[in-house]
Amino acid sequence: MLPWRFPLRRPIAPPGSSAIAPTYPFGSDYHGLRPVHHGADMENPRGTPVLAAAAGVVVFAGADQHALLGPTPNFYGQAVVLRHDFAVAGQPVLTLYGHLDTVAVQAGQTVAAGAVIGTVGSRGVAIGPHLHFEVRLGTNAYDAVQNPVLWLQPSAAGEGALAMRLTDAAGQPRHLTDIVVRGLDAGLPTLYPQTYAPAALPGDPRLHENLALGSLPAGRYEVEITCCGRLFRRQIVIQPYRLTFVRLALP
Ligand SMILES: [Zn+2]
Repeated sequence: MLPWRFPLRRPIAPPGSSAIAPTYPFGSDYHGLRPVHHGADMENPRGTPVLAAAAGVVVFAGADQHALLGPTPNFYGQAVVLRHDFAVAGQPVLTLYGHLDTVAVQAGQTVAAGAVIGTVGSRGVAIGPHLHFEVRLGTNAYDAVQNPVLWLQPSAAGEGALAMRLTDAAGQPRHLTDIVVRGLDAGLPTLYPQTYAPAALPGDPRLHENLALGSLPAGRYEVEITCCGRLFRRQIVIQPYRLTFVRLALP
């Protein structure tokens, strides 16, 4: 268990959904069919208000046709990037909101936490209306991204987060696709996460994790990892508003 701060509010408020779509999480390449995902998607109807995740200054607002925010021009269609007024690990924190239908702010403007900065859309490279939400650490660059689930406050009071660093014996991150996080207490979910796609993303500078899950209901879980023809089991506890960190060196 680590003392952990989740410094960002969720950028969609009820009746909209701030749940992160589980099919294409941060770090996933969707079984090799899509680019590695640099953010988290929140599916919502077009026009749902998008809120600033923390106070800050607008460093970009509008179409990304000429500004390279993603891997190619017009990747996010319309986007807003905020630079926040706090640092983590000595580095500035930025958030990006992509595929917006409308943009309600201008570059240079100061925004309060929770202010409406635009609305959900499907512009750019998007399948259906959703908010693509990114956390960027240090610089406003596509490869400076962090897993939003380690930054966003859990959706409910009884939830916490899990991060794992799964390596080989030499300490290098191992790409693993056969992982089960099984709730042991009544009512807890069972999840089937994968590590980030190989060599893609460095993880948080404090953790160097290669897998993270947010908004996990508190309680006891068993992590089962199938690797190298063996089954590895570890029991963990998730606590409200805490981060549970698991380091495991596999053969
Ligand atoms: Zn996305």
